[in-house]
This record gives sequence, structure tokens and C-alpha cells, in this order.
Amino acid sequence: MVKRISIAGCAQEVSTFNPVLSTYENFSIARGDEIFERSKGKNSEIDGAVNVLRGGGDIEVVASYMAGATSAGPLDRDSWDRIAGEFLDALKPFAGQIQGAYFAMRGSMSAENETDPEGYLLEKSREILGSDIPITISQDIHGVVTAKMLKHIDGVAVYHTYPHVDFADTGARAAHQLLRMINDGARPVTVRLPIPALVRGKQLITETGLFGNQVRYLRELHGDPRVLNAGFQIGNPFTDVPELCSQVIVVTDNDEKFAREIALKAASEFWDNRYEMHAELIGLEEAVAKASKMKGPIEFTDAADAPSSGASGDSNAIVAEMIRTGYRHTVLAPIVDASAVVRAVEKGIGGKITVKLGGSLDRRFTPVEVKATVVSISDGIFALEIWPGTEHAGPTAVLESGNYTFVVFSRSVNLVDRAPFFANGLDPKDFHSIIVKSPFCEPEFFDDWCEINLNVEDLSELSALGSFGAQTSPSDIRFRSQQINI
Ligand SMILES: [Zn+2]
Repeated sequence: MVKRISIAGCAQEVSTFNPVLSTYENFSIARGDEIFERSKGKNSEIDGAVNVLRGGGDIEVVASYMAGATSAGPLDRDSWDRIAGEFLDALKPFAGQIQGAYFAMRGSMSAENETDPEGYLLEKSREILGSDIPITISQDIHGVVTAKMLKHIDGVAVYHTYPHVDFADTGARAAHQLLRMINDGARPVTVRLPIPALVRGKQLITETGLFGNQVRYLRELHGDPRVLNAGFQIGNPFTDVPELCSQVIVVTDNDEKFAREIALKAASEFWDNRYEMHAELIGLEEAVAKASKMKGPIEFTDAADAPSSGASGDSNAIVAEMIRTGYRHTVLAPIVDASAVVRAVEKGIGGKITVKLGGSLDRRFTPVEVKATVVSISDGIFALEIWPGTEHAGPTAVLESGNYTFVVFSRSVNLVDRAPFFANGLDPKDFHSIIVKSPFCEPEFFDDWCEINLNVEDLSELSALGSFGAQTSPSDIRFRSQQINI
């Protein structure tokens, strides 16, 4: 008998500190077979899952609904209601028709009227599909699997890389667990071990940092047939939701003791390292003063305004400090400012304009006035260097003003590599100072050839991130088959 497995997805990472709400229009929506077409050949969770499932015997994969958006502010009430309604309506025809379900999620959504959107979707999906159908999900290392989510699923696969490169592999792990349950009768037991610490900084880079040791340990356990899935989440500190934490999630085939041992080992090592896992930051004034005396090239990391973490992308704080202090070096600065782009498009290439840049979305930043020449205009569509997918920044203008070159986007998009510059005819290597609105980049993008990476301290009082002190002792909770709170 052919077994049918449905797939669906709903994913966004939000920063609850971004004052601009996300809307339905932020989302790219796909339905039915369009979901396969969009993900095919891409390094995406859905493609990874589909490939495993299609190779898993007599299995037909069907798709219902996928909504995905670039990181931004929390979702507004009406948009969340609409997305949730569409997601669940698309699932209803599959009730009683499928033998398993996989949901691609990131675990870091939040809406005006719902702080656990994925938990809500999984609760309602479980109601639709019934209690006997295996359900697995995938999650970002920066997500948080909540108690509500775990109550309604059988397992979760978490990215094993940061910066993220294993999207397809994560979907594949979620799919493998489904096959183990459907074909081999595996009986999953999930242990969740929350840790009262939020961490950030270069020690979280899985290839080179301390955190990589815990992730490698969990990843290698996938060779053990007792382990169905094991991962570590560090949350997204900007997604300020009730269950925000770091945590280990281990799913075994009916071996609770082993799951507990694994979780405790990974969590204990992480806990011991917590004071090493601080971001090393430099104050804004100090960073600009230091760079002004250096030969360069200089990378200014503006992690506080990283759209990939949900920020608005329209902070001008570093540039404003450079202007204030008469910085003389060449500067390449990305910034989101739709009205400045409109002015540039009106004047056309070669035109001279006076515009106010920055603070158009997040009013905490004071716009800076610049007189500039319009160097180029593009449609703002570009593929990122490693991440899958295409960014749609809307009309984009390159403006030159003295020693400053601004790449001005109409919309906030992922600025995690050099693609936003290359797509607009700019090579960051031609500049002394480059502002990078991403917490971390692959080394070859900037670190390898820059003299220094100045990770500039949070500029808008959003957060002072590092480990919290212990508030409670770590405790573990087992879910689904039998719930125990310890
Ligand atoms: Zn992430």
C-alpha cells in the first residue's frame, strides 16, 4: 500500500524589538505542488525531506501550504490570523488521507496576538490529523521548541550549523525519523533540557567555537540507531517570547534513559562554557576612532541592525558617528530607506539629490542628511552566496556622497554576505571600511581579507547579550508518549 506523507511549512524569525510589524505581504506563499517546484534543487529543509521520503519505499509525498518570510518585526494580528487560517485550511483535505506529516518551521515566530505561533499551528494540525499520525518538524538553531509544540509532535530536527548551511540535511533528518516510525515502528521519546542562558558571539560558530563541540557530539549520535534526532538550540535573543532559552532536544527510539544522558552531557558542557560565550563588542565611538587610524580594510559588524536577525536594517548609527568625527576613509554602507530610493529613481543615474538616510522605519535613529550622486539603480533582486533563495530588496540605488557609498534598499532583506554589494556593481574590497549588517559571515566574505572585524556594541539599547546567571536549575521534561515534569 502506498503511504502518503504531507509536508507544509511556516517560518519566520522575528525580532520583537523591531517596532515595525511584519504583514502578510512579507510572506512568500506557495501551495500544493508549487512547494516542490520552488524548493527543488535548493539547499532547503523541504527539498531535503522530500528526497529522503521519496527514497523511503512506497511513499507518496503531498504538499499543502508553505509561508516563509525574511526575518523582521512581529507579525500583525490580522496577518497572523490569515496565515494560520490558510495553513490549517490547506491541511484539512489531508485528514484521514495520510500516514505522516512533516512541517518545516524555524521556531522563532511571534505575532501581536500569539507568542507561540508554531505551537498553535501544531496544536490545531494535531486536531485535524488525529493523534495516531507521526508528525516531525525541523527548527533553526535559533528557534525554541516550546512545550506546546512538543506536546503535539513526535520529533524535531535542528540545524547543526551556525552560520547555517545544513538546511536540506535538517529536513532530511526530520524525514528519516518519520520513516523510522512508519516503516520500522520506532517509538519516539523526546527529552527537552532547557538551560537558563542566552549566548552570542564567535564561540557559537559551530565550525570553530566552543559550542561546536556540543553540536558535533549530538550530530555524531545520529549514527546510533537508538537516536532519532538530537540538536541544540540557543534561541534568538531578539525573539523575546515566554519560553526563550537555550536547550537540548534529544529524541530516541523508546530509550528515555539514554536521551536524558545525552541531553545532560551536552547541556552540562554548554553550561560550563557559558561565560566564554559572550559577544566581544566594541563601543561605537571607540570603534570609529580606532578604525580612522588603521590602514584597513576594516569590517564594521552592525549586528544590532541585522535584518537576518529581524532588525529593520535602517540604522545609520555607525555612519552618523563617522560623519560626526570627520572620518576620511572610503566607506561602503548598506541601508534600508525606501523614500531615498524613490528620490534617486526620480532623478535618475547621474542625478544629484539631497536625502535623509536612516531611521525611516525605526524612529529611534535620527536621519542623516547627505548630498549624493545617483550612481546606479537596480531591481534589488539577488541570490545570496551560500544561503538558498532569492532576496527581493525592491528598487535599490547606489548613492555616492564624498567618501561614502551607500547601497540603499527599499526593503529589509538578508544582508549576510557580499551579494547585496556585488549585485549593485560594487566590490567591498575597493573600500577601506565596510559596514556589514549580519552578526557573522563566512570568513572568506570579509574576515579573511579585512585587517580587523569591529563588532560594534548594540546601538539602540536593544540588548546586552551574554549569559544570564543561573535563575533555575536545568530541568528536563519528557513529552508526548508520557509527560513528566521534573
Ligand atoms: Zn538561525
